[in-house]
Amino acid sequence: MGLGGPGSSRAWVGYLSIGALSIVCYYLIPPDGAGVVVRVVMYCLTSMSAAVAVFVGILRNRPRPWLAWAFLGASQLVYAVADSTFYLRHYLLDLVDYPSVADPLYLAHYPLVVCALVLLIRHRTPGRDIPGLIDAAVLAVVAAMLSWLYLIAPQARADSPMLVKVTSVAYPVMDLAMLAVALRLILGTGRRPPSFMLLSGNLLAIFAADTIYVGQQLDGTYQTGNWLDALWLVGNLSLGAAALHPTMRWLGDPSPVADQRLGPVRIMALCVAALVAPATLLVRGANEPAQDLPVIAAACAILFLLAIARLAALVADQRRLAITDGLTGLHTRRFFEAQLTLEVQRARRSGAPLAVIIVDIDRFKSINDEYGHPAGDAALVEVATRLRTAARAGDVIARYGGEEFALLLPGASPEDLPAIAQRLREQVASSPIAVAGDCWLAVTVSIGVASYPDHGHLEGGLIAVADRALYAAKSAGRDRVVVGVPSRGDRHSCDEDAEMVEFLFRTADEVDAALSNYQHSKAISLWAMVMASELGADLATIRRAALAGRLHDIGKIVIPASILAKPAALDAEEWRVMREHPDHGYRIAAVVPGFEEVAQSIRQHHERYDGSGYPQGLSGRCIRLEARLIAVCDAWAAMLSDRPYHVMRTPEQARQELIRGRGSQFDPDVVDLFLALEASGRVGRLSRLDGSESAGLFIPPTGTR
Ligand code: GH3
Ligand code: MG
Ligand code: MG
Repeated sequence: MGLGGPGSSRAWVGYLSIGALSIVCYYLIPPDGAGVVVRVVMYCLTSMSAAVAVFVGILRNRPRPWLAWAFLGASQLVYAVADSTFYLRHYLLDLVDYPSVADPLYLAHYPLVVCALVLLIRHRTPGRDIPGLIDAAVLAVVAAMLSWLYLIAPQARADSPMLVKVTSVAYPVMDLAMLAVALRLILGTGRRPPSFMLLSGNLLAIFAADTIYVGQQLDGTYQTGNWLDALWLVGNLSLGAAALHPTMRWLGDPSPVADQRLGPVRIMALCVAALVAPATLLVRGANEPAQDLPVIAAACAILFLLAIARLAALVADQRRLAITDGLTGLHTRRFFEAQLTLEVQRARRSGAPLAVIIVDIDRFKSINDEYGHPAGDAALVEVATRLRTAARAGDVIARYGGEEFALLLPGASPEDLPAIAQRLREQVASSPIAVAGDCWLAVTVSIGVASYPDHGHLEGGLIAVADRALYAAKSAGRDRVVVGVPSRGDRHSCDEDAEMVEFLFRTADEVDAALSNYQHSKAISLWAMVMASELGADLATIRRAALAGRLHDIGKIVIPASILAKPAALDAEEWRVMREHPDHGYRIAAVVPGFEEVAQSIRQHHERYDGSGYPQGLSGRCIRLEARLIAVCDAWAAMLSDRPYHVMRTPEQARQELIRGRGSQFDPDVVDLFLALEASGRVGRLSRLDGSESAGLFIPPTGTR
């Protein structure tokens, strides 16, 4: 018969059927005269057959790890020898001494079972399976408490010779050890094929029979050959069948720990188990006050601690799931962005460098198209694994998009970056990736790199630079690394940048036109620039103020016209959409090389000095100066313009509004400056902009980007 062939898949059924039949015959044969001999032979043969079945199963199915099954076979062999010794002596030689030579053999089988189970558990869950461990511990603690109260303590306190006492206590203690490990196996993660169920049945049947046996011995009701023999025999047959079942081959296969679920059945079981201790306290307290009270109290305390530990593990698990990508096991984009913000702040404080790397799989769509989505998924998982292998401990690595990955490398020096990125690229391309069956594909990636502080000081800027570098790598033919923005000397890129800025200016004009608010952004740009220079700001800040003023509303380009130009007050949902425009503007502007700080100022132009603004709720000087300037200019211009849904104010009313908002909506110093400049006519006159001049001309050119 071939391995796993139809023969071996039926062997366990035949074995169980014959076994069941022999148990029935066992009880039909009268236990006297020759019947006794037949019963003893049947019992011992059944017990021994299980040991033989395990070894046959090992040879036939070649399980991994085979040593676990060898231990199980050995344990059953010892058990069968113990059975043979016991029944021969008891029935045929009429030797009823206790303990007898059979008892050390019976006891010796437990350590072998424990070794086997520990091996299986370690193979099935190579990682940490804390929930499984705690659940097993809860049940084991309850079993230990009950065993102590009703089996171990009564045996230990019984008025019997020392050797009898030790042997009688040894059985429940050994059973407990076996049960604890068995529970760990049964409640842990991993697949549960028929072989697993049969093995679990063996363990539970033997534990139940042993426990009842000790109980019956204590109250004097045990009789050799009673119904308990059936339970032991069923346990033995269960083991034999487990070993003959073809699924035993991969019982030890590792399984991810992540698939652990706290289902209703398990919750109920844990609740009932945890309540056993206090319930016992009530029952025992009423009948035998003070007896074994410390043991029950200790069990209650341990169960309570285990419940808390389970809760903590569950919370940790949920947190891990929230920041882990389901397919690749890498971090999520959200986690990456949060880490990036933290690391940029840390780098700013410490002065250490920081690198952002974006990796995109080349022509990934064609993998999906040609081999199917599952093949694409397999490739994603393998690329993720290879990137993780190539990254250092401490690097954050995330799935950034569909087939895009992002790495955050704290402390990576700019000189090392090309080599690091090349290593990542080479690791992915090092060998073909197995997708769909025996199909192997050569997969390559393109990589864009940006480093702090060389390519930007803000997280949005770093990402934008890395993104552009990635785009450059794709344009240059893929399967390559590009670090940072193309050099300044590259005319093509300068032209491209200038075109992008020009495009954004046109976008700002489109928004103004949509709002019938011509020249609005140009006015804000001019006033913000005048105020920044009046404050003595450096040239770069003045330029940023002008640019952010010019572009502060570009995010409105994605707001539907029905909301943007609605001739009435907005409802709550419309407001929610409207309030997103600073974020949209931020994202649009951040695409331009060197515009990350301008983009931040755009994002912050609706923040309020007292922290009640949006989108981030920043307050005071945490709001960028440019944004605080724009806030005042923007409010002024809005108050003096004719909007369908609000009354145009007179300049005097507008002045009073600004003064009212001093320190709450606006930076008080900025309000004072604006009012002073407005009084002298340098800012605040909308008519001055009616000419055809382009506000782009106001913006001072500077090398500082
Ligand atoms: P390029 O070299 O320019 O990057 O080409 P590309 O085909 O890799 O890029 P494109 O962005 O056109 O296609 C990405 C594809 O990735 C499209 C999308 O269907 C696929 N994708 C995104 N997420 C998943 C996923 O989770 N599993 C699978 N199988 N495919 C995904
Ligand atoms: Mg791609
Ligand atoms: Mg892509």
